[in-house]
Amino acid sequence: MAASRTIIVAGAGIGGLTASLALAKLGFRIIVLEKAERLEEAGAGLQLSPNASRVLVDLGLGPRLSRAVTPDSICLMSARNGGEISRLSLARAGSAASDTSAPYWVIHRADLQAALREQVENSSNIELRLGCQFEDVSPHAKGLTVVQRSGASRRDELAAALIGADGIWSTVRQHLLPDVQPLFSGLIAWRGTLDTRQMPREYTSRRVQLWMGSQAHLVAYPISAARQINVVAVVPGEWNRPGWSEPGDGNEIKSAFVAAGWHAIPRMLIGAVDGWRKWALFTVSGRGPWTGDGVALLGDAAHAMLPFAAQGAAMAIEDAAVLAKCIAARSNESPAAFTAALQRYERLRRPRIIRVQRSARQAGRIYHLAGPMALARDLFIKAMGPQRMLSRQNWIYDWRP
Ligand SMILES: Cc1cc2nc3c(=O)[nH]c(=O)nc-3n(C[C@H](O)[C@H](O)[C@H](O)COP(=O)(O)OP(=O)(O)OC[C@H]3O[C@@H](n4cnc5c(N)ncnc54)[C@H](O)[C@@H]3O)c2cc1C
Repeated sequence: MAASRTIIVAGAGIGGLTASLALAKLGFRIIVLEKAERLEEAGAGLQLSPNASRVLVDLGLGPRLSRAVTPDSICLMSARNGGEISRLSLARAGSAASDTSAPYWVIHRADLQAALREQVENSSNIELRLGCQFEDVSPHAKGLTVVQRSGASRRDELAAALIGADGIWSTVRQHLLPDVQPLFSGLIAWRGTLDTRQMPREYTSRRVQLWMGSQAHLVAYPISAARQINVVAVVPGEWNRPGWSEPGDGNEIKSAFVAAGWHAIPRMLIGAVDGWRKWALFTVSGRGPWTGDGVALLGDAAHAMLPFAAQGAAMAIEDAAVLAKCIAARSNESPAAFTAALQRYERLRRPRIIRVQRSARQAGRIYHLAGPMALARDLFIKAMGPQRMLSRQNWIYDWRP
């Protein structure tokens, strides 16, 4: 196939695989480079609100996502007294309450990645190259030459565009914008899972629990066809090594929550987790730029955000849908037309990404309030009522490509 019909995607994470499927639907030949030898079971839960599930359903992923759980509500909980502050029913997430094609899902990252991968493997015009990393790119009159490496062998490939979906520590971004570095937030996320059967039913029902305490919060929800509960605790800290799966000492996180005076129920959840992992929370400013000649960044590579709006994966999925639309609408097959399409994608995405990043930062500050400010927050949430609280998210959930 001609270079003008080939697009290379660096990274087979959530954004890269979604973009590959969306672009393959346009008839392009897609080559996905993934540096990992295997797509491992690393990671734990992700939340997919209707804005993201809508894209996945449109790509035909619905039947492959049988292990996704549809929670019935988000419960805002007080870590101080163990009480429920508000219960937001997800039956009406987004103003289009009757839109059953866009559920609110919670899912293990590995299950989502496996579903995307199966769909990719069923697509005759996508080639997934595992153990193959992006190394270099150079633009020229015919498009791009992309350099990739598998072990000792190096290979050049001609393509019309390169999509850098290679995550927060993106090599594509290093080529495009060597000065842009991820910023450490001063926060560490601890995560683990527990077997649903270990806990009394009232603590493992199909809901997202958000426990808010002084300087810390904890999120728990069912994943893996509701057989496991995903638990993530976010605390301040100085440890800031890159990576997603550093083993963590469970005693450290347990004693932090005892010392902070957390209620017995969230402490019970923490106590039941076996095999804690931790990752330092870094961000990449979404202000851009995210594009160069024939090259665009997508997902965390462009705009890694704090996870407190639960939109990191969702924004990568949205990016993929918009990118495909912009490429479909390019004026011709020339390299300049591809670059113009990528620039359009960046212009369309940036305002929303900046708003979501801001919203995630604000959410983190609100979750971690202490003393009288925390009491005022809880009173405000109660006074608002669950329906109004949830409708504040409509600008996120109602999005369509
Ligand atoms: C192993 C792992 C575990 C995670 N666990 C969680 C979690 O538990 N909870 C959570 O909220 N988020 C987690 N995330 C992050 C979450 O998936 C992303 O924030 C979100 O889905 C956006 O995805 P993305 O596609 O932009 O990037 P990612 O999902 O990070 O995918 C990037 C991909 O690019 C690959 N890559 C990197 N460099 C190169 C290169 N030079 N050439 C080729 N490929 C390259 C990586 O191996 C990875 O597969 C995890 C990410 C990873 C990689």
